[in-house]
Amino acid sequence: MSPEGRIAKGPEVGIFAGRSVKSMIPNDFIQTLLSRVDIVDVIDRYVPLKKAGANYQACCPFHGEKTPSFTVSPSKQFYHCFGCGAHGTAIGFLMEHSGKAFPDAVEELARDVGLEVPRVERPGESERREQAMDLTAITLEAAKFYRAQLKDAPRAIEYLKERGLTGAIAARFGIGYAPDAWQPLASVFDRYDEPALETAGLVIAGEGGKRYDRFRDRIMFPIHDSRGQVIGFGGRVLGEGEPKYLNSPETPLFSKGRELYGLFLARQAIREAGTVVVVEGYMDVVALAQHGVDHAVATLGTSTTPAHVQKLFRQSDRVIFCFDGDSAGRKAAWRALENVLPVLADGKNAGFLFLPDGEDPDDFVRRRGKEAFEALVDGAVPASEFLLAELTARHPPTSAESAAALVTAARPYLGSLTAPVLAALLHRRLAELAGLPETELRALLGHRAEGGQGRGSSSQDGAGFARRSDPAGRVPPRAAAFGQRRAPSLVRELIQALLLQPQLARSGDLPQPSDGTPDGAALAALVEYCAGSEETVTTAGVMQYFANTPHEPVLVAALTAAEDHGITLEQATVHLAAGVARYWQQAERAGRPARSAAGAAPTPEEAERLRQLEMVRRSLPPSFAKTSRDR
Ligand SMILES: [Zn+2]
Repeated sequence: MSPEGRIAKGPEVGIFAGRSVKSMIPNDFIQTLLSRVDIVDVIDRYVPLKKAGANYQACCPFHGEKTPSFTVSPSKQFYHCFGCGAHGTAIGFLMEHSGKAFPDAVEELARDVGLEVPRVERPGESERREQAMDLTAITLEAAKFYRAQLKDAPRAIEYLKERGLTGAIAARFGIGYAPDAWQPLASVFDRYDEPALETAGLVIAGEGGKRYDRFRDRIMFPIHDSRGQVIGFGGRVLGEGEPKYLNSPETPLFSKGRELYGLFLARQAIREAGTVVVVEGYMDVVALAQHGVDHAVATLGTSTTPAHVQKLFRQSDRVIFCFDGDSAGRKAAWRALENVLPVLADGKNAGFLFLPDGEDPDDFVRRRGKEAFEALVDGAVPASEFLLAELTARHPPTSAESAAALVTAARPYLGSLTAPVLAALLHRRLAELAGLPETELRALLGHRAEGGQGRGSSSQDGAGFARRSDPAGRVPPRAAAFGQRRAPSLVRELIQALLLQPQLARSGDLPQPSDGTPDGAALAALVEYCAGSEETVTTAGVMQYFANTPHEPVLVAALTAAEDHGITLEQATVHLAAGVARYWQQAERAGRPARSAAGAAPTPEEAERLRQLEMVRRSLPPSFAKTSRDR
């Protein structure tokens, strides 16, 4: 579910319900609420549902479709769309569908089941809530001011004209100008010393309490959330000053790791084009729009995060990341790829596009026009090819040893995949590249052979497979002929079983891997939360707890796969027990210390040693290890 509804009203409405210190609705209550409401009733009020097997289905309310891929599971109290990836609990649905803020969605559901929402008003809570509302108003006032200032700023207008922008485009993006003075905003706000101006990121308190505007003598680009509210600004310097680009700091309204510049304005065009193009700067977005490429958005001075990727795939099945052709661009692309792989479903496409050296999208489209840019987009390198090309460039498989290095380097990336067809294709390609039979490759990767022996539900694979790939109709026939899905990794299987039976976390001696992989981290967090929870934990409760955290993509993928396989609660219990036993066996065989008798967590030193060991074992070059950890 999209986080902006929660962000827009500030952190006190509980981005991470109950966990944030600022949250005002206790997590216990959220858990109780989700165990009482029936998501089928809730959704059926807005989207008429039809029974389909154990689940309910409808045409997805979040994307246009003719055959239903929107599925609601009464047992898991969770909805998921196989078409666009929308997913969530009853709370999430109300937020996503009706645009309700988190507390309002909780309030509505609580009323339905006759529960009263406990309000934990911490000291200053109500003031803070009011303040968040103030922040929205303040930010909007500032945006109006900057826009009005542009008219009287010939230098700024000249700059925009030089960049080939028309007044119409400047108006569409609400572009403005922050005057060249210390306190321009003092003319807008009666009380310039109001702390909220600082909280909104507009005013800086310097040494000796002297206050001044953050944005001075800059072209101002307002940043909108998905409802079109201004939540922050990007400012580009006029001329040569530093920094060239300055963004609003992290505020209760604005978090650069989640927001994408231009998304609100581009929504329609993205839908029409069937593609969203991701660039690095706001000038790129505006310049592309000026030349008729309306479906571009930009990250805000940060590398692409998992939250970005999810948000993008919610908008479109095809996401093209556009980077400079230099080494910094390739590094940024690799980071984006790492975040893309775990959420890439079959039928979703991610492509990577590298501009000619020295050009950014702004330069490119101004010099060569829309058609040339669209041609680049069409020719973007698919994620899978980019992955293999980079890996083989780093580890050219010229000898048995280097082929082995290639395979070990590929392991974490292949392991993070959740899309069965893509995984099958990548395994085959990697086997070819490394000059190994596929069976041998799988053994090396530590994956079980295709067909997933030892699984209780393999008979359902065919049906599940067909449902995943057919509506999109994008699976090439050759790939469909595989007809089998990749068995999930052991860790993924444990995640899946635990999600279905979260209360079992308390009884078992469950592993909490510290291997630095997304799956390992998700399992560790899941075990910690479920085992430590005092309340009855439910699938929906857990999913709500982890909504909008870095673990969410992995959990959603695991839960969706469980849905797809039709795994029952009984099977989950069996899988969990068997999986835990196998995990510790494997740990022992791999020379990792098995659980201690008491199941005690390793000491920090031990954990660090294990981590080092794991890194050596995977023989990742240090640069790799860094990029996958520095998020
Ligand atoms: Zn959908």
